[in-house]
Amino acid sequence: MKIKFKSFAELKEKVSSSGLTLSTFLIHYEAINEGKEEEFVISKMDKTLSAMEESIEKGLKNKNVSKTGFVNGWAYQLKEYINGSNFHLLSPEFTEVILNTLAVSEMNACMGRIVAAPTAGSCGVLPGSLITVAKLKGVDRRKLIEALFVAGGIGEVFQNLASLSGARHGCQAEVGAASSMSAGAIVSLFSDDIDKIESASAFALKNVLGLVCDPIGGFVEIPCIKRNVMGAVNAIASAEMALAGIKTLIPLDEVIIAMKRIGERMPLELRETGEGGLALTETAKRLLQKFKAK
Ligand code: SF4
Repeated sequence: MKIKFKSFAELKEKVSSSGLTLSTFLIHYEAINEGKEEEFVISKMDKTLSAMEESIEKGLKNKNVSKTGFVNGWAYQLKEYINGSNFHLLSPEFTEVILNTLAVSEMNACMGRIVAAPTAGSCGVLPGSLITVAKLKGVDRRKLIEALFVAGGIGEVFQNLASLSGARHGCQAEVGAASSMSAGAIVSLFSDDIDKIESASAFALKNVLGLVCDPIGGFVEIPCIKRNVMGAVNAIASAEMALAGIKTLIPLDEVIIAMKRIGERMPLELRETGEGGLALTETAKRLLQKFKAK
């Protein structure tokens, strides 16, 4: 029989009565619902992880320029700058988070292969934060794969209670959701405490409530790519607070419902139409005209 959960509270209850950790429960859940063996869904997730890793690698290798010309090899530029100057504003690790996130997001804008996690527009957040932290901390591959199931479980709660769509609820439901999924997943690398996982996810989403979707010309480039970087950094900061035992006062489910309410009140111009916010600035209009005249 298929297993179902609508909210994070429900998921927590099921995890608690199963006696499993959140990640092992979600692997079991996926296997049951897909009608496959657990090892099968784990190996499928392993392939997803490899695709994310490849997009980081490819994104950093060359100067990626999008068809519009808006995206102009920013990951490559940052990499070259660091190689030449060895100057990091904070630390090489922090720069690596930025680099990897930019790399994957640029691959999306330049028609490369990415994993939509949860969407193409927010595809840089999870690899840029989760994979980078796991690599820097020497976390083994199996644990990292398990963390991706945690991210998926949190994403499913978003989908059940609200949506993962910028067109419906603004960028809070794309980069915000990706950041929230990543924050919980990062915690799961180091702790099985489901309350800490929930707190991290709730922090990350609370920090971006109200984030509108306003891509220039409707292209998932500006501000999407640098917004992914913000989402990755936000996820790590949220995970660090939660790992220290700082608790969310508002449960994750309620934060997601708040996001949904805010999204429903957003005017259409701020929900992926490219007709409001940043997309309506004079420079954005000029950039778009220049591209159309090409
Ligand atoms: S601004 Fe809109 S299109 Fe860009 S990542 Fe956010 S939700 Fe997606």
